[in-house]
Amino acid sequence: MRHDSADRVIVVGAGPVGLGAALELARCGVRSVLIEKHDSTSWHPKTRNFNTRTMEIARGWGRAVYERLRAIDTPSGWKSPIRFTRTAVGEQFGVIDSKGFEGPGPDVSPAWPVMSSQELIEAILLDAVRASGMVDVRFATEATRLVGGGSPADETATLEVRSRATGATETLTGRALVAADGSASLIRGELGLELEGAKELRHIVNCYFRADIERHLGDRKGVLFFVANEHVNGVLQPLDAAGRWLCQIAVPPEDWSLEAFTHERARAWIRAAVGVEGLEPEVLSLGLWKLNATVAEHFVHGRVLLCGDAAHQFPPTGGLGVNTGLQGMHNAMWKLAWFVRGRAGWPLVETYEAERRGVAQRITSQSLQNSINVAMISAAAAQGASAPISAEQAVAESRRYGNHLGVEFGVIYQSRAVVPDGTQPPTVPDDYSDYLPSATPGARAPHVWLGASDARLSTLDLFGSGLTLLAGPGGDAWCTAAADVESKLDIPIDRYRIGGPGLHDLGGFTKAYELGDDGAVLVRPDGHVAWRSAAGTRDGTVLHDAVRQMLSR
Ligand SMILES: Cc1cc2nc3c(=O)[nH]c(=O)nc-3n(C[C@H](O)[C@H](O)[C@H](O)COP(=O)(O)OP(=O)(O)OC[C@H]3O[C@@H](n4cnc5c(N)ncnc54)[C@H](O)[C@@H]3O)c2cc1C
Repeated sequence: MRHDSADRVIVVGAGPVGLGAALELARCGVRSVLIEKHDSTSWHPKTRNFNTRTMEIARGWGRAVYERLRAIDTPSGWKSPIRFTRTAVGEQFGVIDSKGFEGPGPDVSPAWPVMSSQELIEAILLDAVRASGMVDVRFATEATRLVGGGSPADETATLEVRSRATGATETLTGRALVAADGSASLIRGELGLELEGAKELRHIVNCYFRADIERHLGDRKGVLFFVANEHVNGVLQPLDAAGRWLCQIAVPPEDWSLEAFTHERARAWIRAAVGVEGLEPEVLSLGLWKLNATVAEHFVHGRVLLCGDAAHQFPPTGGLGVNTGLQGMHNAMWKLAWFVRGRAGWPLVETYEAERRGVAQRITSQSLQNSINVAMISAAAAQGASAPISAEQAVAESRRYGNHLGVEFGVIYQSRAVVPDGTQPPTVPDDYSDYLPSATPGARAPHVWLGASDARLSTLDLFGSGLTLLAGPGGDAWCTAAADVESKLDIPIDRYRIGGPGLHDLGGFTKAYELGDDGAVLVRPDGHVAWRSAAGTRDGTVLHDAVRQMLSR
């Protein structure tokens, strides 16, 4: 499918974030051309987990996508705990309950998380991209040079690409470019943007293998098995509880190559990590990656947006890398789509950086701290009584690993795309791990069950690619005001009065949203609250002004 350059966006990279960006642009009615240098999506599993908030985003890509992702979830019992052991079947030093991987349940979200493997996830997203009919997918096509779009004066983005089959080059133009080209991002380099933070902390071999480990574990299920003994130090990760596994092996830089780290070495490592003599693992593939804790100095530059690993790279000790990438992409794509469709000014797109860069920095430093804690647990276990802190203390220090509902659901955006109402979200004991629903402007709009007990829907199901006004049972005046803003500004605003037909309040909507019966909230296409009025109105211009401000019009 080829289409006009005037109304399209160029997306570089068909990893999870590039595929998600194309899907999100399609959801918002914008075409894209998706460039991927490889012949297909990845066949090597890398990351494993789509958390609950990411799965809320996936619900927006259609029921088939959501249900297919859920269908590749690992069986129950394999999302928690995180175990620290001498070998997978041997002595255990400690456990952390990783409730974040299991999800907060139906009081907080209508979605459930998925623990699976990246190559399966990407295949599902690619099917959806193709089914959208909005994306020109080009595999075996490498972005080679950013010709234009890297300066604030540029009105469009221009990219040189090369076919890996024929060597032919071509120049593509779009209204903007999304760089989802991973940690070694060519586009980030072309823009001259630096990565801030700690680089190349460790060299890791990621090994995908098959072995009948589950049989030897008995009841010892878990999401991660950190192992530390005189021969090995690393982590085993079950992929399906049926014999497919990954492991992450830290190696010295001189061993960080597929020539040095052979399949035979990987097999010996796995045997020593599992602790079962005679285990015969079948190594399926090896991948190499470096552990970084870095965030790009800018996420938006000229007409280019950095998303996913191109924008930030986390130690995997947190399980938030791909999730933060997708949640950032989700923040950015509706803004970009609204700009392309003439509904908003470019300053709206720039709020992506204001809203998401700080989140990425925070998660980067916690993920780094988690990896330091994990090393402390292993060291404490190895040194026994002579260790400066005990393994139990080190485990207690690590409680945020796998417990991240605060940063998953509780992020409050502050930018010109949010109109504050002077309120603050409720305080929680630990705002990284703990979440209390809040509809303060900037917050993720809380999930409340509506409908009938045998035909429920979530408030989240009402959020489409336009703005959404949710009004209390007596909030008709706000619905009228929203209709007026819709026609004056020529933008879509869906309007729902909770308590209206089919929207029976099953979960305490006005309480969760802190509204009087005649109050209302306005929700953005990314499900975050843009504006709120706890009370009714006789003058709708306040809503008009709020929308103009947030859209930079
Ligand atoms: C070997 C490996 C193992 C990993 N293991 C883990 C793990 O265990 N846990 C964890 O949390 N995270 C892990 N990660 C990181 C995780 O995979 C990323 O966080 C996640 O994939 C980010 O998604 P993304 O779409 O931003 O980038 P990527 O998945 O890296 O996708 C980028 C895409 O861009 C394409 N591309 C790059 N340059 C160009 C170009 N010039 N032209 C066209 N296409 C281009 C690439 O081929 C790739 O398909 C691992 C990464 C690697 C590489």
